[in-house]
Amino acid sequence: MSLLKEFERRDLGEIGRDLHDFAASLYPICRSITGSGIRRTLAMIQDRIPLRIHEVPTGTPVFDWNVPKEWNIRDAYIKAPDGRRVVDFQQCNLHVMNYSIPVHATIPLNEIRPHLFTIPDHPDWIPYRTSYYKEDWGFCLSHNQLAELKDADYEVCIDSTLEDGQLTYGECYVAGRSSDEVLISCHACHPSLANDNLSGLAVATFLAEHLSGRDLHYSYRFLFIPGTIGAITWLAQNREASERIRHGLVLTCIGDAGGFHYKKSRRGNAEIDRAVGCVLRDCGESSEILNFSPYGYDERQYCSPGFNLPVGCLMRSVWGTFPEYHTSADNLDFIQPAQLARSLRLCASIFDVLEGNQSYLNQNPYCEPQLGRRNLYRSTGGDSISIEIHARFWVLNLSDGEHSLLDIAERSGMPFAAIHDAAELLRENGLLKGIVGVEKAP
Ligand SMILES: [Zn+2]
Repeated sequence: MSLLKEFERRDLGEIGRDLHDFAASLYPICRSITGSGIRRTLAMIQDRIPLRIHEVPTGTPVFDWNVPKEWNIRDAYIKAPDGRRVVDFQQCNLHVMNYSIPVHATIPLNEIRPHLFTIPDHPDWIPYRTSYYKEDWGFCLSHNQLAELKDADYEVCIDSTLEDGQLTYGECYVAGRSSDEVLISCHACHPSLANDNLSGLAVATFLAEHLSGRDLHYSYRFLFIPGTIGAITWLAQNREASERIRHGLVLTCIGDAGGFHYKKSRRGNAEIDRAVGCVLRDCGESSEILNFSPYGYDERQYCSPGFNLPVGCLMRSVWGTFPEYHTSADNLDFIQPAQLARSLRLCASIFDVLEGNQSYLNQNPYCEPQLGRRNLYRSTGGDSISIEIHARFWVLNLSDGEHSLLDIAERSGMPFAAIHDAAELLRENGLLKGIVGVEKAP
C-alpha cells in the first residue's frame, strides 16, 4: 500500500501533535556542531529509530577541512555589580555565542560591548550567533536588555571547554530490496531553534519510523548531522555509499505556517526534482520551486561538482527570508502541529513517486483495448468519464517504453497516485507489462 494512503487513514491531527511534542522535548538542549548537546539529541532520536552513532576525532582531515575541536558548555552569565545575572545562559541557551571560548573576568561595559549581539529591529528577540572557526567569545541578548545596562564593571563568565574530542553524527539505514539509496539529510546542530531545524529532525525521525519494516524498493539513509562540517565529514568518509544515492532531500524549516519551497538539485532535472514538482503541484498548498544556488544548507555539499548528487532541499519558509530566522522567535509557537504533519505527509507522497515510478509497455498498442469487456470502463455510455478511467487512457497511451509514470503524471496533469493506481490495475488485467530489468515490483 502507498505511504500516502496509509497516512490518509490515520489521524493527521494526532500525528502533528506527536511531531510537535517530539520537537518540544528536543528544544531545551544546547546543541552545537560537536559536544554533549548533539549527543543527547541523537540519543533521543535513537529512542525512536535504530540510529548508528558515529564519532570522528578532532583533527581528522575531511577534504579541505579538519574536524574541529569539541565544544561543551556548562554555564554562562553577565553579572551586574549588585550580583544579579543580567544575561543568563540558564534562561536561554541562545544567550551565548555558540562555540565561545571560556572567559571569566570583571570588565567595564565598553570593553564587553564588542562581544554583544542584539537585533535593534526586534528589540525583544535574542539573536543566534556562532563562531565555529574563529576562536572568540560573545553574548547574545535582546536590544531591550542591552538598553538597560548602565556603565559599570560587569562579571562576564563563559564556563565552556574547547578541546580535542569528537564530531558526532547519527545515521539510520532502512534497507529496501535494492542497494540504490534515497538520502534524507538534516542538520542537528542548532540550539533552541524550532523551525531551523527541530522541524526537520522530527519529520525525518517519523519518516524513518514509518518506513521501517516495510517492503521497499529503495534503501533509505537518514543522516542527522552537524551542518556543513557534518555533511563534508560524511561525504569524505562514505565515498562508496555516496555513489549509491539515486535521490536525496535535505529537510529544513518545514514546520512554520509558510507554503512549501523546493530548491532543485544542481542537476535541475533529476528525478527527485520532478517528483517533488509533481507532488507539490497536487498537494493543495501554496508552493514554489526554486532553482539551485550554491548557498543554503547541506545540499551545497551533496551538489558540489565532485559529487553532483541529485539532492534538493525541501522547506516551507526559506531560511534567511523570515524575520524569526536565527532568533529566539523561532520557538515552539512558530512551528505548528498541522504544518509538521502535512510536511510529513508530503514527504511520504514524494517517496511514493520514487518507489512507484517506472515505465511500462502497453500489451495492446494497436488502437484502444476494449476496456468495457474487462470491466475497466463505465457501464453506461454518455456520462463524462471519471478520473480513474481518464488515468487508464493516459497510461495506456503513453506506455510505449519511452515514458515513465512520472512523465505521464506530468503530461496529463493528473496526480501521480491516480496514474500509478491505473497502471497497477492495467497490469493486473494483462494490459501492461513492466519493462524487464527496470521493474521495481518484487
Ligand atoms: Zn540555521
